[in-house]
Amino acid sequence: MKSRTHIAVIGAGTFGGWTALYLLRAGARITLIDAWGPGNSRASSGGETRVIRGVYGPNSPYTEMTARAFPLWAKHEREWKRKMLYRTGVLWMAASGEDSFERGSVEMLRAARIKHQEISAKQIKQRWPQINLDGVNWGIYEPESGYLTARVICQIVKDAFVAEGGEYRESAVVSDDLEFGRWKALSLADGSTVAADKYVFACGPWLGKLFPQTIGNRIRPTKQDVFFFGVPAGERLDDSHLPVWAEHRDRFRYGIPGNQGRGFKIADDTRGPTFDPTNGERVVNPDGLRGIRQYLGLRFPAMKHAPLVETRVCQYEQTPDNHFIVDRHPAAESVWLLGGGSGHGFKHGPAIGEMMTELVLKNREPKPYFRLARFAPLGKTQEARIAAATKPHPRLASW
Ligand SMILES: Cc1cc2nc3c(=O)[nH]c(=O)nc-3n(C[C@H](O)[C@H](O)[C@H](O)COP(=O)(O)OP(=O)(O)OC[C@H]3O[C@@H](n4cnc5c(N)ncnc54)[C@H](O)[C@@H]3O)c2cc1C
Repeated sequence: MKSRTHIAVIGAGTFGGWTALYLLRAGARITLIDAWGPGNSRASSGGETRVIRGVYGPNSPYTEMTARAFPLWAKHEREWKRKMLYRTGVLWMAASGEDSFERGSVEMLRAARIKHQEISAKQIKQRWPQINLDGVNWGIYEPESGYLTARVICQIVKDAFVAEGGEYRESAVVSDDLEFGRWKALSLADGSTVAADKYVFACGPWLGKLFPQTIGNRIRPTKQDVFFFGVPAGERLDDSHLPVWAEHRDRFRYGIPGNQGRGFKIADDTRGPTFDPTNGERVVNPDGLRGIRQYLGLRFPAMKHAPLVETRVCQYEQTPDNHFIVDRHPAAESVWLLGGGSGHGFKHGPAIGEMMTELVLKNREPKPYFRLARFAPLGKTQEARIAAATKPHPRLASW
């Protein structure tokens, strides 16, 4: 009997967890390994919630990828009888004259068949009088988008993976010779080893440390502060009365109205300082809190005096161009590197799992904008081709 290909997937966040599940279903034998567990507090997937939306600006491949992810989220909700996606709608508020990002998104949404409507400030005001629309002229509303319960989803995916026959081990990979591609097995912190036919490293913000030469600072973990404010009773500021929302003004800010008993989530997408995901202390910056409070009071006047009920510090695993990294290690055909979510990776989890199965088991080539070669000097034609296909909009937002 032909033996099954054995693949070790390292990292049980949204990228690794879904990849492990899809590879398992495609017939491989899978060992999934995580140092601290799926959706742990250090992981980038460890937040309570993550937004899913199709607005990504012009020329972005991620609108199409989101469109693929939607039915996969729905399929798994049905299959597992668990609610993961809250379809609150997502409202993107725009100011005329500074809206090329939003204008460019409309065509992409149409092409990807993600439900959306252009909505005037007047219509926004009529529908959600809780929002003060100073400086907003129009918006894009995605009625079927919303948010995902991130941390819990990672655990659900891992449990499904184990129930379907996958092996899960909670220990850290501590091999220090990963770069050179000549190793025969992974060393784990518990003293054991794992030898597989292929390896997928989906270690989020740790990927640069594990592969200092191949990845290094091409993935920079940045400190991101998230604030949760207590919603005043009876003011219709929760997720059954307001959509997820976002806007570019002087900065890019976004939020999720009162949800999951955690309060009204709000964050500033500006990249923070470099952060150590293992030892960094997760305390928010008081200046950031002041700025967020001011903005919150302006845009949602009923939240002006709302108390801060929780904070969270997470990290983006930021690449220089905001694109993910999906490629084989240049010194080892059997080793795949998967990461660089750059603050917008969570929503794509199941689509990534599906894509990785094609790449790893059928030996296909990743898209050029995912490949490591994009960081090396390229020939002029190749450079121009990639730039034309993937040039990020100057106001490209993550989440
Ligand atoms: C504040 C914030 C808001 C965000 N908002 C959104 C959003 O609204 N929508 C969206 O789509 N995305 C959002 N993102 C981005 C998204 O959360 C990330 O891109 C995504 O979760 C990254 O997943 P990952 O699996 O690559 O990494 P991780 O979730 O970090 O998983 C990596 C795993 O690897 C494990 N690991 C690391 N080293 C080792 C080792 N040596 N051995 C074994 N295991 C190891 C870790 O324990 C961890 O569990 C946001 C991110 C942040 C921080």
